[in-house]
Amino acid sequence: MLQYLTVPVTPFQQNCSIVWCDATHQAAIIDPGGEIDRLLAEIERLGLTLTQLWLTHAHIDHAGGTGELSERLHLPIVGPHPGDQFWIDGLAMQSQRFGFAPAQPFTPTRWLADGDTVTVGNETVQVRHCPGHTPGHVVFHAPQIDRAFVGDVLFAGSIGRTDFPQGNHEQLIHSITQRLWPMGNQTVFVPGHGPESTFGRERQSNPYVGGA
Ligand SMILES: [Zn+2]
Ligand SMILES: [Zn+2]
Repeated sequence: MLQYLTVPVTPFQQNCSIVWCDATHQAAIIDPGGEIDRLLAEIERLGLTLTQLWLTHAHIDHAGGTGELSERLHLPIVGPHPGDQFWIDGLAMQSQRFGFAPAQPFTPTRWLADGDTVTVGNETVQVRHCPGHTPGHVVFHAPQIDRAFVGDVLFAGSIGRTDFPQGNHEQLIHSITQRLWPMGNQTVFVPGHGPESTFGRERQSNPYVGGA
């Protein structure tokens, strides 16, 4: 069985998630934006072995701790999609602009594409490319537990910003309606910020994509 624990990190309260296979106790961290020591303390408290880092996109609050954590523990970095290379190149600028400690540069060990899968222990998770908020944004879908880790694509009652360089509102709406909704109304999603919700609830009541 796949399990997860969401730990909000950084001044932006970014929902970093620790996901693990409870048969092997192997874990991955989705979006280690910062507060690395706190994340490692949780990993230890849960009795897990951290084996990899997964990225939804390369904004500083999601990716800022990736380089340091990867170097410290020799962990592979999986994702995001190559469309976010320019955001990775711009991490130092992002750190400065948002008052974060300087982010250590990194190169993903493996880029992700739509339809890929990633594996932690015995558990396989599906990858969907969901551009719009950033061009290389991906989401991680775990149908075995009806969960999706969607980064800044969709929030409870809102959607991701598209006013950044290479943001695209139409593309974002397309990603939500064509790639998230087919995961099913019952699917609970963990957004990049704020509380969880279900796709069914958002389809009914989200003012940006309700009825879409
Ligand atoms: Zn973002
Ligand atoms: Zn964010």
